[in-house]
Amino acid sequence: MKAVMFHEFGGLDVLELEEVPDLEPGPGEVALDVLACALNHLDVDIREGTSRFPVDLPFIPGVEVVGRIAALGEGVTGWEVGERVLPYLMSTCGQCIYCTTGRESLCLTPGFISFSTSGGYAERLVCPAGHLLRVPDALSDEQAAALQIAFATSWHMLFTRGKLRAGQTVLINSVGSGIGSAAVQLAKLAGAFVIGNAGSDDKLARAKELGMDVGINHRTQDVVEEVMRATDGRGVDLVYEHVGGELFQKGLDSLAKDGRMVICGGHSGEVVPFDIIPFFRTQKQIVGSFVYNRWEVEKVLDLAGRGLITPLVHATFPLEHARDAMETMERREHFGKIVLAISTAGRDG
Ligand SMILES: [Zn+2]
Repeated sequence: MKAVMFHEFGGLDVLELEEVPDLEPGPGEVALDVLACALNHLDVDIREGTSRFPVDLPFIPGVEVVGRIAALGEGVTGWEVGERVLPYLMSTCGQCIYCTTGRESLCLTPGFISFSTSGGYAERLVCPAGHLLRVPDALSDEQAAALQIAFATSWHMLFTRGKLRAGQTVLINSVGSGIGSAAVQLAKLAGAFVIGNAGSDDKLARAKELGMDVGINHRTQDVVEEVMRATDGRGVDLVYEHVGGELFQKGLDSLAKDGRMVICGGHSGEVVPFDIIPFFRTQKQIVGSFVYNRWEVEKVLDLAGRGLITPLVHATFPLEHARDAMETMERREHFGKIVLAISTAGRDG
């Protein structure tokens, strides 16, 4: 099989397209012919060696995959060769108190499928059968690949961790990103008033098409001032934060009293100053959020299958052009996900 991998950490140049032996499923595992794999910034962090996750070299990146079952390992029941599936990307123990109560994102020994088995920048991937979810026919391969991280992360942040309810006001940072544009769609579906920010008017216009009520250009406008203008000086009930740096502080300052800020990332500044005094006097809350639970992927798959949310695909690239795909993502000009569309034509299965 063909796979894109790297033998050392670094820039785009370390990615190599190589021919490697086909992966075969072990007991309890399935092999998938990969149909599409969405790119994520996590892939860049892993390639550069800055992810703070353990990575063994050589490494095939890619955690967000849709594929067709090519082979079943020993003891696998309930699945058939040819079914189109999407693996829940967390690898979890299945036995701890969190896993047994539907809260796999809190598993005591969490990992990602690409670490425990293999990655999706390849023609084939092997994963435990327990990870599989069926993909609704209404979704294309590319849409299904673009769904999981953006929408399940967003569901987990907005509702499970952030407790957003109908009629509340939410500020979504960086609405042009995958999880930002997903959050606009889900927050509107839930009946919230949605304020969003982005670094370009073009991205704000696209987010308005998805239902965003008020857009703020954080390069040319003062985020806190505009939030207060849009909320009659009250501030928002929830801030959806995944950027870090300046937007962390602006998010905190945009909150109403007793408001909540839910956080799942901080690429633009992972260590930030924090003023304790106004924080406790206004009784605000900061809530951490990490990945999502399996049932949350099932939930967003169902919503997408019924056309209530739309996974956004900015561009697709063949596996051979994975380097170009990553370069496009790193330019951060896209709206929606970059997806590798992997052809299995010509393979003997
Ligand atoms: Zn567990």
